[in-house]
Amino acid sequence: TRGLADADPAVFAGVRHELAREQNQIELIASENIVSKAVLEAQGSVFTNKYAEGYPGKRYYQGCHPSDEVEQLAIDRAKQLFDCGYANVQPHSGAQANGAVMLALTKPGDTIMGLSLDAGGHLTHGAKAAMSGKWFNAVQYGVTPDTHLIDFDEVERLAKEHRPKLIITGGSAYPRQIDFAKFRAIADEVGALFMVDMAHFAGLVAGGVHPTPFGHAHVVTTTTHKTLRGPRGGMVMTDDEAIAKKINSAVFPGLQGGPLMHVIAAKAVAFGEALEPGFKSYAAAIIENAKVLAATLKERGCEVVSGGTDTHLALIDLTPLGVTGKDADEALERAGITCNKNGIPNDPLPPVKTSGIRVGSPAGTTRGFGPAEFREIGNMVADVLDGLAKNGEQGDAQVENAVQQRVNALCHRFPIYQGL
Ligand code: PLP
Repeated sequence: TRGLADADPAVFAGVRHELAREQNQIELIASENIVSKAVLEAQGSVFTNKYAEGYPGKRYYQGCHPSDEVEQLAIDRAKQLFDCGYANVQPHSGAQANGAVMLALTKPGDTIMGLSLDAGGHLTHGAKAAMSGKWFNAVQYGVTPDTHLIDFDEVERLAKEHRPKLIITGGSAYPRQIDFAKFRAIADEVGALFMVDMAHFAGLVAGGVHPTPFGHAHVVTTTTHKTLRGPRGGMVMTDDEAIAKKINSAVFPGLQGGPLMHVIAAKAVAFGEALEPGFKSYAAAIIENAKVLAATLKERGCEVVSGGTDTHLALIDLTPLGVTGKDADEALERAGITCNKNGIPNDPLPPVKTSGIRVGSPAGTTRGFGPAEFREIGNMVADVLDGLAKNGEQGDAQVENAVQQRVNALCHRFPIYQGL
C-alpha cells in the first residue's frame, strides 16, 4: 500500500535523480529517447505481475484474457505501422530479437555475415565478443575507407566466398540509408536469408521518412526504444508465414520464458502513438535536426564520417582536433550534454578510448528542439571540444561552466515530464 517514496527512500531517490538528470541534461545518445507518460504508465502497470507464456489465445496459464487484449493490440498496431504480415512483440530486447532469428533460421557453426562493429555494426551481428561471434562462423563486412559507405564489392565477394546462411545488415553507428535491394540480390545469388536489424532507424521507417526493409528482407528485427520511442524491448517481423512460425517457436519456448506483459502493454501504447499523424512530422524533424547538428560540427572543424547523415545520428571524427572520444564524452557530460564515445571506421584507438563520438537527435527532437536549438547544441559541443583541444583531457572549466548555463536555459525552455 505504501508508495515508493515511503517504502524505499533510497531507490526513490535514485529515480528522482534520474528524472532530474533527464530534465536537465541535453540527451544526444542516438539510441535513447524520451517516452510519453502514457508509455511510462503502461510499463509501470499491474501487468508486471502476470505470467502469460505462449501467445494470444494459446497461453499456458489461466487469467490471460487481459494479456491477450494488450498483446494483440501491440501485434496489430506493429503490423499496421510497418505494413507487414507477422509481428512477434515478445523479445525482451533487441539482442533477444536477433538471438531468436538465429535460433529460428540457423544452427551453431553456420556461417552468418554482418556489418563489423568498427564500421558501425552491432555486437549481435557476429562480433567476436558476442554469442553471435562465438557460436557461428561470423564473417564481417565493412565500409569503404573513402566514402564510409557499405562496401558492396566486399559484401558480394565475401558472400560468394563464404556462402552464409544469413546475411544481416543494420547497425548502431551507421549514419546513412542502406540499399536493401542490393543486399537482397546478393543474398538471392548465394542462397542466403536476408535480415535487416532496423533497431536504430525503425522510427524513421514508421514515420515514412526512411525506406522500409519490407519487400526486401526475409525477416526484420528492431528495438522499440530508440527512434520508435517506446519502452526498452525488441520485436521480430516478417511477411513469410513459415518464417513467422519458426520465429514464434524460437522466441518462446526457444529463448525466453514468460513475456514481459507490462513492457508489451507499453509497446502497444508506443505503436499507437507512432500511428498518429504527428509522428510523421516528428520523424522528419529528427532527420532535419541531425543534419543541422552534423553540419554545425563540421563547420567547427570536426570531421563527419561519411560527410553527413541521412538519419537520426552522426558519427563525429575528432582526429582533426586531436581529441579522443573518451575525453570528449566525459567533458561534455561535465557541461550537461550526454553522448557516447564511438569508434570510427579503422579507428587506430581502442574501444575504451576511440577517435569519435556518436551524436543523435531523437531525444532532443522529442522535447521540442528544432534546427535553431540543434545549431546551438552543435556550437556548445564544439566549444567544449575546443577546450579539450587547447588544454588536453582536463578541458576548459570556464567554457564547460558557461555551456552548462546555456544547457540549463535550453532545458528550461523545453521542459519534460512536468508534474512527475
Ligand atoms: N541491434 C542494434 C542495431 C542495436 O543498435 C542494438 C542496441 O544498441 C541492439 C540490436 C540491441 O538492443 P538491446 O540493447 O535492446 O539488446
